[in-house]
Amino acid sequence: MSKTRSIENVDPIPSSQRAARVEYAIRDVVIPATALEAEGHDIIKLNIGDPLAYPGLPTPTHMIDAYVRALRDQHNGYSPSYGIPDLRAAIALDECGKPRGGWTCQPEDVYVCHGVTEALQVLFAATLEQGDEVLAPGPHYPPYLAYPQMFGAHTVEYRLDPNDGWRLDLEDISAKMNDRTRLLVLIDPNNPTGNVCEPHEIDAVLEIARKWPNCIVVADEIYDRMDFTGHKVSIASRSTDVPVITLNGVAKVYYAPGWRIGYMALHDPSNRLDSVRDGIERLLRSRLCASTPAQHGYLAGLTGDKEWMNEYNAKVLARRDLCIQRINAIEGIEVEAPGGAFYMFARLTHPRWMDRDKDFVLDLLHAEHVLLVHGSGFSKEYGIGHVRIVYLGDLEILDEAFVRIERFLTS
Ligand code: PLP
Repeated sequence: MSKTRSIENVDPIPSSQRAARVEYAIRDVVIPATALEAEGHDIIKLNIGDPLAYPGLPTPTHMIDAYVRALRDQHNGYSPSYGIPDLRAAIALDECGKPRGGWTCQPEDVYVCHGVTEALQVLFAATLEQGDEVLAPGPHYPPYLAYPQMFGAHTVEYRLDPNDGWRLDLEDISAKMNDRTRLLVLIDPNNPTGNVCEPHEIDAVLEIARKWPNCIVVADEIYDRMDFTGHKVSIASRSTDVPVITLNGVAKVYYAPGWRIGYMALHDPSNRLDSVRDGIERLLRSRLCASTPAQHGYLAGLTGDKEWMNEYNAKVLARRDLCIQRINAIEGIEVEAPGGAFYMFARLTHPRWMDRDKDFVLDLLHAEHVLLVHGSGFSKEYGIGHVRIVYLGDLEILDEAFVRIERFLTS
């Protein structure tokens, strides 16, 4: 017979080990910042990759109108698990017509999710077994490290070259591929470095992946239309045989991260993804669907005029240029111009901070009330000694941030 025990005197109920291992640096540093705000301090936050957190970059009104119309028209029920048909068709068309060449994407290749973040969880769940590896860039967007371990797999980082604009280190990729590598991830443009891959680099990566028949290339292109190099190409468009799964969505280039809509699109030129596709579909059906009215908002963004993007990109570019100019005039920190997205990954050259990026971030926060993210939060190995700066603040705020950063570094 089991004895009942008094609930007051027992240990707390433990969380799973897999949850306890999850870290998300970008939001973890918000905790001390929130405490300072509670004491009445104003914090300049250059930590979060959310354009809506900064002035002058609102979600376009035609998208908001479509979302609101969907609500009013009672598009509030569950939608098909893989996405509303019109949105799948619009995404497919968009993939076919990407700048400098798309790929033959059919609506059935597109699966709409609650953001790229959900797409990643589904993709990992559908492909990874115990002992498998995900080869991802170092540094990288944190879920690429946090999620695979939940499925018994682990992430191996390949090196981005800090001395060459954070380009892919192709030799390192090649050396780290093996039979267990199921997914080879490209983030292009990259978070946190802003590097944009050249077409010949993508071709070289596909050449490497071709040697490993169990491997799928994951192309995270969520910042694709924020390309200042004019060289960005769709990764899937370069592959005639290697399977590529493209990830994209409404969050960044359509300025609506809170809508939580993204997608994965399967490019399967040698017909090798049937089983993975079946797994993805089962998982998607089991979680019902993505937000229905938000899908209508994204549809309006994809089908509407995109002229506004040029104006937004010009604003972002002006902010980038100011930051580069300011950083490179400060002793103790340096940066290379990022080619896309809205991040820069600056190197701390100050002897006091070059190996202590997290201390730098926390001390800067407390002393000067400017919030950045420590580079080691994006890769312990490849991010150390760096800080990620989101350059979406308006020019005046950015200017003030650098006054404070300079004061801190020279004090
Ligand atoms: N992929 C990358 C590379 C990101 O930087 C981010 C967000 O910062 C995401 C995906 C998240 O996408 P979503 O908001 O669609 O989940």
